[in-house]
Amino acid sequence: GNVLELGANWIHGVLTNPVFEMAYKMGLVNIHKGKSRTYNVMACTDVGGFVPVPVVDEVRRHYYQLFNVACQYHTLRSPLNGLASVGEFLRRECDRWLADNWPTDGAERRRRRVVFAQLMRRETSICGVDSLDELDLAEIGSYAELPGGNVRIDDGYANIVAGIADQLPEGVVELGRAVTRIVWEGGEGEGEGVRVECGEETTYRCERVLVAVSLGYLQRHQAALFDPSLPEEKVAAMSRIGFGNVNKLFLEFAPGEMSFLDPTLHEVLMLWGADGEWTEDAGDRKPPVTADNWYKKIYSFKVVAPNVLCGWLAGRESEFMETLTEDEVLETCWALLKRFLTNPDVPRPISCKR
Ligand SMILES: Cc1cc2nc3c(=O)[nH]c(=O)nc-3n(C[C@H](O)[C@H](O)[C@H](O)COP(=O)(O)OP(=O)(O)OC[C@H]3O[C@@H](n4cnc5c(N)ncnc54)[C@H](O)[C@@H]3O)c2cc1C
Repeated sequence: GNVLELGANWIHGVLTNPVFEMAYKMGLVNIHKGKSRTYNVMACTDVGGFVPVPVVDEVRRHYYQLFNVACQYHTLRSPLNGLASVGEFLRRECDRWLADNWPTDGAERRRRRVVFAQLMRRETSICGVDSLDELDLAEIGSYAELPGGNVRIDDGYANIVAGIADQLPEGVVELGRAVTRIVWEGGEGEGEGVRVECGEETTYRCERVLVAVSLGYLQRHQAALFDPSLPEEKVAAMSRIGFGNVNKLFLEFAPGEMSFLDPTLHEVLMLWGADGEWTEDAGDRKPPVTADNWYKKIYSFKVVAPNVLCGWLAGRESEFMETLTEDEVLETCWALLKRFLTNPDVPRPISCKR
C-alpha cells in the first residue's frame, strides 16, 4: 500500500539552515518542484456559504502582520500593558482592525472574523496548544523560524539520518539499541567517566554522554535512567515544561471518488462561528469538549493524495478524538464535508486513520 504519514518531512526555513544544506547535498530535496503551482483554497462556512479568496488573503496578511507584532513583545521587550497571552492580543487587535475598517457593516466584519478565528485554530496545531491563551505573549518571539520558506524531503527526515550515518566510519552509529541506564562513575578528572548500559549484554564506557531523548521519555523514565539521580532542579525543570496534543486524521475515498472537489483545489478551510462571536480559542471561556463540538477544532481538510484528505486538530478536542473509534471520526467528518460543501452527495469515505 501507500504510505500515509512519514512523520517529519518538512524543512522549515532553508536559508542558513545546515539541515537544508545537508539534505540538498545528499540530493534529497528538489527546490524547483511544485513552485509554479498556485495554492488553491476554498473557504466554507458552517452555514453553507463561502468567503471569497481575496478576503481570505487580506485577513491572512493582516493576521501575519499581527503575529509578527506579537513576536516583538519578546524581541523588543515591549511593555505588555496588561496582556498575558498571544490569544488575548490577537483577539483584541482583530477586534480593533474590524471596528476601524468596517464600523457599520456587520457582515463584512463577521466574515473576516471567522477567517481570523480559523487562522488562530490553525496556530494551535502549529504551536501544539489547546488555546492561544496558553501561549505567553512575552515569549512567543523567542522561537525564531529561519527565512527562505519551507521545502519537503519527499521520503522523510530518516534519509538525512541514514545519509549522515553513511559518512561515518562503520559502527559509529548503532541503531535499534535502547539505553537502559546511564551511570556516572564520579569525578571530574581524566579517565573518570560514564557507563552506558543497554540491557544486560552491552555496556559502553565514555568520558561524556550527550542525552537527546525526548522530554516525554525523560519525564517518565529519568528516575530509572540516571544513576546517581539528576539534580533536583533539573528534575523540577523537566516537570514544569509541557507539550500539547496534536493529531492528524486522514479520510480515504474510493479511487476516483473525490470528484466532488475541484481537481485543482489544495485545501478546504472550515470557518466556524458564522454568527460572528469569538467562539473559538477563547481560553477559559471555552465550553467543555463533547461529542457535539470536538470537531470544530478541525480547521481544514487538505488534499494530500488524489483520494485522501487530511485534517489537523490540537488540544483538548484532539485528546477527545482519541477516545472515539475511527468509524465515529469518519462519520463525523463525512457529515462535516457535506455540511460545509453544501453537497449531500459527498460519498462516504472508505476509511479513516488518525
Ligand atoms: C507526525 C510528526 C510530524 C512532524 N513533522 C515535522 C516536519 O515536517 N518538520 C519538522 O521540522 N519537524 C516535524 N516534527 C517534529 C520533529 O519530528 C521533532 O521536533 C524532532 O524529531 C525532535 O528531534 P529530537 O532529536 O529532539 O527528538 P527525537 O526525534 O524524538 O529523537 C529522540 C531519539 O531518542 C531515541 N530514544 C529514546 N529513548 C531512548 C533510549 N532509552 N535509548 C536509546 N535511544 C532512545 C528515540 O528512539 C529517538 O530516535 C514532526 C513530528 C511529528 C510527530
